[in-house]
Amino acid sequence: MTATDTIIIGGGHNGLICATLLARAGQKVVIVEADSQLGGLARHRAFYPGFHASVAQTLYALPKAVIDSLSLEKYGFEPAKEPIETIALSPAEPPIFLSRNAIAGATDTDRRAFPAFQQRLQRFSQALSPFWAKTLPRLGATGLQGLMTYGHLGVKLRTLGKADMLEFFRVATLPMRDLVDEHFEGESLKAALCWDGLLGSQLAPRSPNQGVLTLLNRKAGYWGGSHSAPEGGIATLISALVAAATEAGVQCLTGNAVQHISVEGSEQGLFCTGVELANGEVLKSQRVASSADPKTTFLDLVGAQHLEIEFSNRIRRLRSKGYVAKLHLALSELPVFSGLDKPLGRLILAPSMDAIEFAWDAAKYGELPEEPVMEVFIPTLIDPSSAPPGQHILSANVMYIPGEPKGGWTQSLRQQLMQQLMETLSEYAPGIENLVLGSELLTPADLEHTFRLTGGHWHHIEPAIDQLLMMRPTYEAAQYKTPIEGLYLCGAGSHPAGDVSGNPGRNAAREMLS
Ligand SMILES: Cc1cc2nc3c(=O)[nH]c(=O)nc-3n(C[C@H](O)[C@H](O)[C@H](O)COP(=O)(O)OP(=O)(O)OC[C@H]3O[C@@H](n4cnc5c(N)ncnc54)[C@H](O)[C@@H]3O)c2cc1C
Repeated sequence: MTATDTIIIGGGHNGLICATLLARAGQKVVIVEADSQLGGLARHRAFYPGFHASVAQTLYALPKAVIDSLSLEKYGFEPAKEPIETIALSPAEPPIFLSRNAIAGATDTDRRAFPAFQQRLQRFSQALSPFWAKTLPRLGATGLQGLMTYGHLGVKLRTLGKADMLEFFRVATLPMRDLVDEHFEGESLKAALCWDGLLGSQLAPRSPNQGVLTLLNRKAGYWGGSHSAPEGGIATLISALVAAATEAGVQCLTGNAVQHISVEGSEQGLFCTGVELANGEVLKSQRVASSADPKTTFLDLVGAQHLEIEFSNRIRRLRSKGYVAKLHLALSELPVFSGLDKPLGRLILAPSMDAIEFAWDAAKYGELPEEPVMEVFIPTLIDPSSAPPGQHILSANVMYIPGEPKGGWTQSLRQQLMQQLMETLSEYAPGIENLVLGSELLTPADLEHTFRLTGGHWHHIEPAIDQLLMMRPTYEAAQYKTPIEGLYLCGAGSHPAGDVSGNPGRNAAREMLS
């Protein structure tokens, strides 16, 4: 094989985006993906004969700028015409239906408070949104570019107006619980409003620091953070990304794992020369960009022997334990959820913020929550072709499930979890257990193994304040460049973080071309 300009490790959505942008700029680009399919956590896979689903189930963080910069509509991806509702469910309360600025089923007080609360968060999110698409300056950098970025941030916050700016600084690091408690009274409503600040992280409603920032990041997506599912499902996004990459001339080697990133030394320091595949083949390139998580990239693929001890220790210490499990059910028919005509929307099964907190309390000590909380979506209501005619899929993100439970994952613990999940689901959708044809339960340990994802973490590494912004994943590698010349990061472990947003891949490509 002839030498390549850039090898991208991992063909998840970020790897695909990075590859396409580089190829369009004239580079010869090769993606090396370990799985036989592209798309990473968003790849559409069969979990039961005739039933296909992706782990990532809805879009909310994908911004218009990413869709436009790749002309994805030309390749068959159309954003949903409108977002789906979020529906807060509780066995003790009637359902509450939330759309962007309207709410139904809530108390009068909550109904009155909701639009102003949403609009204010939206204004904060809009002020921050340019920074998710930028490379943040290196800590301590005094260059003009860095100063301009900080200046821009200051101006954006100032143009919020004095009252909003002061409020932004007050709430930016509040625990999610305090934020929603100030405005609302309904228990299930408060739980649902917390959800997007917590999902995928080691945070519960009472945890301080970064829940609000995560929420504001998510609100920068196409529908202002409202969840959506395009016609044809999330698979249409991946097929459009693959088509765009192919047309740009990107070569995709699927079913090939990278075993090592090849590193050599010179007087100027270490530099990267390509990769070695698990089958022993060596691929040479000018640059390598890894969308594998930072621990995999540096500790497994580069190897600590090539890294400064302080840097490798910082990478080793990155917090990357995931606490979300994925449940897929193949159902013989559409389940009936109490109080709903049709379960069309994102259903939050969490009766209160305490229920979320208690689930976290158990998981952080390596135990299964007595009452798991979850987010449920029925993708076949949007994309019926994912299941045989008339049959349905239930896809749930379950919080909080430890990746390393006390005593490890035994068959009986898995059965216990499955039973708890079915009991919880049947509280909301009585009789659902009779509709189950087949199921797939992916604990964080399964996600780690199946998707080559350290800890099975939603964001590759925890989006904690010390692992965010110009410190993501560490301050030496936060500008997509790494301490090894020619080696870049381009996945969810880089700024701004995970979710299907495309920002890390797009930002990394821009850095590599600058
Ligand atoms: C349970 C769960 C549910 C989620 N649901 C949603 C959702 O509904 N909406 C949303 O926006 N986000 C969701 N997320 C988060 C989102 O899926 C991820 O943040 C996002 O997929 C990260 O994209 P990526 O391209 O950076 O990495 P990934 O999607 O993780 O892709 C990385 C790719 O690199 C490959 N790879 C790794 N190591 C190697 C190697 N050595 N050689 C070759 N290839 C390698 C992997 O096989 C993988 O294909 C969810 C996450 C989880 C865990």
